[in-house]
Amino acid sequence: MTVARIGPVERSPLVMAEIPRPEPGPGEILVRVEACGVCRTDLHVVEGDLPPLHPGMIPGHEIVGRVEDLGSEVERYRVGDRVGIPWLHRSCGRCRFCTTGRENLCPSKEFTGYSVAGGYAEFARADAAFALPLPDGDPGPLAPLLCAGIIGYRALKVASPPPGGRVGLFGFGASAHLTLQLAGKLGFETVVYSRSPAHRRLAERLGASEVVDPAREPSPRSSGRLDSALVFAPAGEVVLQALGELDRGGSVAIAAIHLSPIPPIDYDHRLFGERRIQSVEANTRADAREFLALARRWGLRATTTTRPLEAAHSALVDLKAGRIDGAVVLDPRSAQATGPTEGRSG
Ligand SMILES: [Zn+2]
Ligand SMILES: [Zn+2]
Repeated sequence: MTVARIGPVERSPLVMAEIPRPEPGPGEILVRVEACGVCRTDLHVVEGDLPPLHPGMIPGHEIVGRVEDLGSEVERYRVGDRVGIPWLHRSCGRCRFCTTGRENLCPSKEFTGYSVAGGYAEFARADAAFALPLPDGDPGPLAPLLCAGIIGYRALKVASPPPGGRVGLFGFGASAHLTLQLAGKLGFETVVYSRSPAHRRLAERLGASEVVDPAREPSPRSSGRLDSALVFAPAGEVVLQALGELDRGGSVAIAAIHLSPIPPIDYDHRLFGERRIQSVEANTRADAREFLALARRWGLRATTTTRPLEAAHSALVDLKAGRIDGAVVLDPRSAQATGPTEGRSG
């Protein structure tokens, strides 16, 4: 599925195209895609919130698959291995960020499904050094771990709430529904803020300590009920709302690659008291390995709906409208089996 023209997802900017199977270069692997998660970043790629880099881009950066072919100089994988391909396709390895454990900030890094072709396809190419080994089993629930899960983990690290502290999650999509489970396992109390009744029900089922409908409960000037707030919604006003819930010394981590402007901040009431705001950009491989190990140990699972590859467009429309519970995963294998009509399973 390629981006034929940048524009609102309602106007079907994605089209099915036949393109040659990619060849893995030196240090690269070719992966047969078993599942690819649909992330909000894909929406930003398709709609042009992120500046377009290449015409005909194939989105998708939560790829689970099997190694199909190896380029030269690949030692760490064998054909048939289960791997995950995340958002960070490659970084330079030489700059002052890469050499100090901050490859996520590398100015010349490349991204899967944005600067290089992604996983809305039957095959995807990856740098073997940036792919991640994954366990066997159902590929669908693993896919959202690769971006939604890892980014939520990094956001939690960046926010660094005190042990046992109260963590608020604003916007309950794929990332928040995994981060909620993670935060609970790490011993934090969790407060989920969502306007969607379906999302609030899912949050309750997944063990949120408290669930808040922000429409019914306008935030006071400073309620002080949170030690940290993780903002997943791409809306600047939510940052303000999160700040309003923060205790002194608290932190807001914004896990969004694109955000509408933040309204003016009343410094005296919302930021003073050593409250902090920080953005989260991508993740390092260390973040990915740490999170995947925790996910495996605790059996963290994404709540997923699987759709055939051709349904990528409707999946993005539903994501934009907030109609997805948990995450949607595309299955290029079911696309071949079921044809162009949309089906739901899982
Ligand atoms: Zn670099
Ligand atoms: Zn993503």
